[in-house]
Amino acid sequence: MIRVASFVDLEEAERAGSMLMAHSITADLRGRLARGGPIDLLVDEQHENRALELLGLPEALPEVPRPFRPCPACGAGDPLWVGKWKAILLGGGLAVLITGAIFRWPAFGLATAIVFAAFGISLFVIPEFECRQCHRRWSRGPR
Ligand SMILES: [Zn+2]
Repeated sequence: MIRVASFVDLEEAERAGSMLMAHSITADLRGRLARGGPIDLLVDEQHENRALELLGLPEALPEVPRPFRPCPACGAGDPLWVGKWKAILLGGGLAVLITGAIFRWPAFGLATAIVFAAFGISLFVIPEFECRQCHRRWSRGPR
């Protein structure tokens, strides 16, 4: 399908869609991934020119690229990176291991096990990204 128009107002988008339907053009609204975001009007490739003519538009809109790391809740792209604690934990863990190796701790094996367990848990538990729009936080790891 081809994106022929984009609307901010849902009613306006629906009106345009049903107008095309009335001319037996299959139209589809794809919409609003982000709150307040645009609603796209799509038609089949074969109906592109006729649809543009009916809508009084010069040409179809360019394809929108998929947002970078879209939010799982609202689809907004480009989230904030909040993985600072994960990085600090990783750095701290490495420091513990290096210190343990240098001073030949008797419990070095145990320390290593704890550090790796903490890495494993933090990978899933500590969120890495925060949505700029709805402030949902998520981790890159499997949910
Ligand atoms: Zn969001």
